[in-house]
Amino acid sequence: MSNAPHPAAQAVPILQVAAALGISRDGRRAHCFNGPGHHGGQDNNPSLTFFSDYGRFKCYACGVKGDAIDLVRAVLGLGFREAVGWLERLAKEAPPGPAPPVLVGPAFAAPLASAATEVFRDLYRMTAAPDPNSLEGRYLAEKRGLDVAYAAICGVRVLRDLNSLGIYPPHKLAAAGLVSKWGRFLFERHPLWFFFFDHHRPVHICARDITGSAYAKELAPIGRQCPVPFNQDLLFIDKWDEIYICEGCIDTLSASQLGYPAIGVPGTQGFQREWFDLLRPVKRVRVLFDNDEAGHRAGIELRAQLRLHGIPADLVHPAHGKDVNDLLLHLRDNKHE
Ligand SMILES: [Zn+2]
Repeated sequence: MSNAPHPAAQAVPILQVAAALGISRDGRRAHCFNGPGHHGGQDNNPSLTFFSDYGRFKCYACGVKGDAIDLVRAVLGLGFREAVGWLERLAKEAPPGPAPPVLVGPAFAAPLASAATEVFRDLYRMTAAPDPNSLEGRYLAEKRGLDVAYAAICGVRVLRDLNSLGIYPPHKLAAAGLVSKWGRFLFERHPLWFFFFDHHRPVHICARDITGSAYAKELAPIGRQCPVPFNQDLLFIDKWDEIYICEGCIDTLSASQLGYPAIGVPGTQGFQREWFDLLRPVKRVRVLFDNDEAGHRAGIELRAQLRLHGIPADLVHPAHGKDVNDLLLHLRDNKHE
């Protein structure tokens, strides 16, 4: 961050840069991208402020600040030169014009209008339900005990041909947080994709390695908060007496398959405060996290939060094994005893 900014820092108005990165704003404010710099792992306020006259941003909670190049670097995890290239491409595609419309309303509704949502929709169209005889289908059925057709209904998809992505504009993938810091497609080694829907529109995605060879078994777009719980649309199809909250997509599918209507949070800390309203019509919410220290602690915390929001909640644990998927496998393998 020198005193003489690189020309690319001014090539596109910072609010347009923010929009292209999928950051949803309310006026000049947005939820900060630097979640780990905030108490509880996310910025609930929002504290990130844009100064469009100066082309700069600053977070009043964690202190991150800078110009458009710094913003692109931080959100997409790029180096300086890559960020400059990204901004130059954006400038070519979207000549400076009036700033995009200000998005108002709850943060979880805003991503519908973002560039990332368009990418998730395109990716959804490029994918297909897993073939039961494919590697992905066999992973779901044999390793996880899941009904492949049911998983597909819940948004589990496979990209049959990675090469078909070759023609997709890389800057769009980057804006959706789908380019790794090595400049590669983020899910290159994670062929099993879980789509998150908001009223039937795909608004988020996470992907899983099925071979054990990738450095992380599950990945989600970089720099983006998960806007809705996995399997959220289940909440809109009925008036539920009970809803289970599970850790991760596989457990959510496992619980649902066992007859427990479930939504999923991405990890124990993944529940967003905008989601409490979704659960108000439910008579009782049951937190079904993993049977380990972290799961217990996070479960107690989430139960307290739900009760603070006036939502009756309790805590349950899988009757067998570490998580709900273990329980599903145990029941499958001991069916005939
Ligand atoms: Zn911050």
